[in-house]
Amino acid sequence: MIEKRQFYIDGAWTEALDGRDHEVIDPATEEPCAIIALGGQADTDAAVAAAKRALPGWMATPAAERIALVEKLLAVYKSRAEELAQAMSLEMGAPIALARANQVGAGLFHLQNFVDAAKAFDFEASFSEAHADTRLIHEAIGVCALITPWNWPMNQITLKVGAAAIAGCTMVLKPSEESPLSALLFAEFMDEAGFPKGVFNLVNGDGAGVGTQLSRHADVDMVSFTGSTRAGRAISKTAAETLKRVHLELGGKGANLIFADADETAVKRGVQHMMQNSGQSCNAPSRMMVEAPIYDRVVEEAAAVAQTVKVGVPSEDGKHIGPVVNATQYEKIQGLIETGIKEGARLVAGGPGRPEGFNKGFYVRPTVFADVTPEMTIANEEIFGPVLSIMKFESEAEAVEIANDTPYGLTNYVQSQDVDRRHRLARQLRSGMVEMNGKSRAPGAPFGGMKQSGNGREGGILGIHDFLEIKAVSGWAAE
Ligand code: NAD
Repeated sequence: MIEKRQFYIDGAWTEALDGRDHEVIDPATEEPCAIIALGGQADTDAAVAAAKRALPGWMATPAAERIALVEKLLAVYKSRAEELAQAMSLEMGAPIALARANQVGAGLFHLQNFVDAAKAFDFEASFSEAHADTRLIHEAIGVCALITPWNWPMNQITLKVGAAAIAGCTMVLKPSEESPLSALLFAEFMDEAGFPKGVFNLVNGDGAGVGTQLSRHADVDMVSFTGSTRAGRAISKTAAETLKRVHLELGGKGANLIFADADETAVKRGVQHMMQNSGQSCNAPSRMMVEAPIYDRVVEEAAAVAQTVKVGVPSEDGKHIGPVVNATQYEKIQGLIETGIKEGARLVAGGPGRPEGFNKGFYVRPTVFADVTPEMTIANEEIFGPVLSIMKFESEAEAVEIANDTPYGLTNYVQSQDVDRRHRLARQLRSGMVEMNGKSRAPGAPFGGMKQSGNGREGGILGIHDFLEIKAVSGWAAE
């Protein structure tokens, strides 16, 4: 059994001051695989105090030196990638191939994009040529609390730590209690990279404890949070008392609009994207909306593709999906599948219970529902499991109306060969991102949502901006 009860505070591994044991459960076996400590107020206070002490020095460190340390971090991260992949596979059940390529890869990608963006960015510049006397200084927001989820652990941690470090912020990371092992390794990488003590601190804890203590803390200037809309709301309320900044990256219920002129791989792509990471992605295209003339064909194809999605144990190499993260999520997903059936959606692949061959572990059958209508629960709730809902639309206007009829607004998808239509839809869909015909965003393009999917932007230069204040200085003296 792995035992990792220490926190990383003020440049050292320290015993918890106010800790209690917490078992990390391996979702593949339902057995404990590690014990960590969940901290309390004294640990939160110690970490915040260390970050506060380190702030003036780190803010005053030239940007080039901060960037160079993130480059060192990148090198350490690369050299220890396999450990990281194994940790994520164990703690949250990602198949090892996905953990190596995508889960670890996401962190490399973000750190590199931050370095590239920051090298091209002037942290200080004249307001305009005509008014060189007015200077804009971009400086750190201050002490940041970084609260992250378990579904893409390194993706979220690097998006926050990389940007905060380059911006000159000091930080306290509270990773998800479901995925603390990869986060503890990441803290080792920060130490090995040589960041000055107190710049980066890690305290394990749960939402009700350390999460709330950080959100409430008078010496925390900003909370950057990724997770559920429920927790985002709680954090916003707690943080309001001190008027700290609250950066939110929350849930989603993405629509994938498939028009009759979609390319021939669009349906397969949509189903596979939904199933990736066992459906545990905030930007999953969970509502496949299909134009009426091709509806029946698409339902048949989507069901056939879902039936080819293999479910397997995380430690086995190969292209399959693993279990979902924990018992709560498993029960929630099973409940929503039952609700889908009860409310009259047509089950065309998968269904309730574990896949054949599994009698334990939080494994879910890749499931597809057809004939889903907008008022059904599965059309509205974020399921966060390998469950796709297919809906029919008759016109472009109706498609937009249904797609936007959700409190969420993270990513929507459009599949069509008609450029004019794509441009129209890109403007009408209310989401932070619109992905057309399977084309990924450029490296460093911002990730983030609208409406109840949040307010932050992560990645690249705009991700760094989210950790910066802008100071306008007049009388700078343009000699
Ligand atoms: P969660 O909200 O339960 O937990 C996320 C983190 O917040 C954890 O570290 C948890 O301990 C902490 N937390 C929980 N309640 C808190 C509170 N009241 N105060 C402070 N901290 C609190 O979410 P999860 O189950 O870990 O992750 C899944 C959710 O994350 C999904 O809704 C998913 O869509 C969302 N997500 C969003 C993005 C995005 O960028 N928009 C990315 C990944 C995941």
